[in-house]
Amino acid sequence: MSSHNQQPDADIALRVKAIESLLIEKGIIDPAAIDTIIDAYEHRIGPHNGARIVAKAWVDSEFKQRLLADGTSAIAEMNLTGFSSEHMVVVENTPEVHNLIVCTLCSCYPWAILGLPPTWYKSFAYRSRAVIDPRGVLREFGLEIPEEVAVRVWDSNADLRYLVLPERPVGTETMTESELASLVTRNAMIGTAKVQLPSSPHEQAA
Ligand code: FE
Repeated sequence: MSSHNQQPDADIALRVKAIESLLIEKGIIDPAAIDTIIDAYEHRIGPHNGARIVAKAWVDSEFKQRLLADGTSAIAEMNLTGFSSEHMVVVENTPEVHNLIVCTLCSCYPWAILGLPPTWYKSFAYRSRAVIDPRGVLREFGLEIPEEVAVRVWDSNADLRYLVLPERPVGTETMTESELASLVTRNAMIGTAKVQLPSSPHEQAA
């Protein structure tokens, strides 16, 4: 992504730090509790949860049908429902359609399933351009979507969060569910990447 919009993020980080310091000083919050929450979102609640959902959908077609029909219930079956993932819609990438998730208003994101949102997801550049020029945005992520493939952009909000079900890569037919899950990246579940085999030269994390 372009970096001309980094300044507001730095300002927000400073303000958050200032507010956090004040709340700790006043005894309103416990710094250890904050660290526990951040650790949870970085390590326990991260995108590996979303990857498990995707891998299960790839190997279990009945689960996949339930997931696409009612994402919230299917994800609850796996006990992965949580903060900001209460109402989930899962959209499937196919050879005909590529889906991309954005929150144009702010940064709504399924935290329980994908962990902490990446900085670029919250940037004004991504939020504004994802809707106007999704193919251009995807090109910056190294993803060229052929003209004959439709690009659908889904705008998250406070009540509804989206998850992309990426296409299962060819050559993964003999892989186990957990091996498949290890291939699924956060960006693939936002729609800014495709799932690649480890040997692929296109495996570049944005
Ligand atoms: Fe938002």
